[in-house]
Amino acid sequence: MASDPISQSILDLLHAHDPEAAGIIELETRRQATTIELIASENHVSPAVMHAIGTCLTNKYAEGYPGMRYYGGCVHHDDIERLAQKRAKELFGCEYANVQPHSGAQANMAVQMALLKPGDTFASLVLKDGGHLSHGMKINFSGKYFNPVHYPLTYDENDPNFEQIDYDAARAICLEHKPKVILCGYSAYPRTIRFDRFREIADECGALLMADIAHIAGLVAAGVHPSPFPHAHVVTTTTHKTLRGPRGGLIMTNDEEIKKKVNRCLFPGIQGGPLMHAIGAKAVAFGEALKPEFKTYQEQVVKNAAALAKALQERGYRICSGGTDNHLMLVDLQTKSADLTGTDAETWLEAAAIITNKNGIPNDPRPPRVTSGLRLGTPCTTTRGMKEPEMIRIADWIDRVLSAGGDEAVHNEVREEVQSLCADFPVP
Ligand SMILES: *Cc1c(COP(=O)(O)O)cnc(C)c1O
Repeated sequence: MASDPISQSILDLLHAHDPEAAGIIELETRRQATTIELIASENHVSPAVMHAIGTCLTNKYAEGYPGMRYYGGCVHHDDIERLAQKRAKELFGCEYANVQPHSGAQANMAVQMALLKPGDTFASLVLKDGGHLSHGMKINFSGKYFNPVHYPLTYDENDPNFEQIDYDAARAICLEHKPKVILCGYSAYPRTIRFDRFREIADECGALLMADIAHIAGLVAAGVHPSPFPHAHVVTTTTHKTLRGPRGGLIMTNDEEIKKKVNRCLFPGIQGGPLMHAIGAKAVAFGEALKPEFKTYQEQVVKNAAALAKALQERGYRICSGGTDNHLMLVDLQTKSADLTGTDAETWLEAAAIITNKNGIPNDPRPPRVTSGLRLGTPCTTTRGMKEPEMIRIADWIDRVLSAGGDEAVHNEVREEVQSLCADFPVP
């Protein structure tokens, strides 16, 4: 059932050893193979990355950093971590890389603890308009221990930059509140981020610029989105979204003082032993991202997103900000029907084997558990080899399902068609 023979033999082995766990994993393998995944923060890793994360690297404690470990026997762990660091630096064109964060949120926590004292002010985007919970949500550490202030999007429909970052407002807010750190980079922002403009603002108000490129890291690595370097003082990312590596985080900088502080804050500040198997898989994923095929892949991700957005617009859906420059888009469902909610759309599409997530749109009148929008992204479908013609078919299916409301007959009909397309584009 897995599409490569090694993965299948691993599943067989697991099945003989623990049928109960293996059964669940097999069902998930089948679910991924037979659905269209449009969640913008997900991807399908290569078999090489998948196998690297399932190696004996998981057996070792390697607290500390290469050459400075708290345990013996780390010689090969030093090598694999150095390899991951070297490739990350080459990929993003920077001086220092810490490959140990367990996740994107841990990477952000380490940087915030390194650059801010409890109670210090930092600036980030209004969270419900595309920010991440680690950018100052009240019940997250970032909002409990620090003092976030937020800059807005442009909410004026007559403004050509409608629903895009309002850099003038961001400047005014930063000059007023004098944050120590300005955070840019988002979870649901479809437009190019002007790191150069944020740096000007940071310089003007004496702040450090932190770029969280969790979503767009793959695009940045491939040169399809402008790089945060040299503008940002420190850059964080996940490794599992567009970058197509194992789940994990990464921190980068060109500043030696910041590097020292961040390394200490990550370990021993907030983490213990690094997930060495994940670091091994990061090295493999970064190696893949350095290849020319990765650039072609990211270019297609962006083309596919543009094609999907256009096809949805042609079917009467408003795409927030009028389109997309990257791998994701926000669909305003209210323009299709006033009662259509993000929750219903997500549920109905899932019944038709199309996986999405409800998402608030700028100035959403509905609460976050309901929402009036869907966030759609193309990293997964593009990894499976789908191109513009498939994006048009997907837009058609989405429209058929959402126009039919809760009609199960339509869900079933579309699901069969989706599954037949999935069979032609296997998960790697
Ligand atoms: C996904 C995301 C993160 C967090 O990543 P986790 O690995 O889930 O902790 C951080 N920042 C942004 C902007 C994200 O989109």
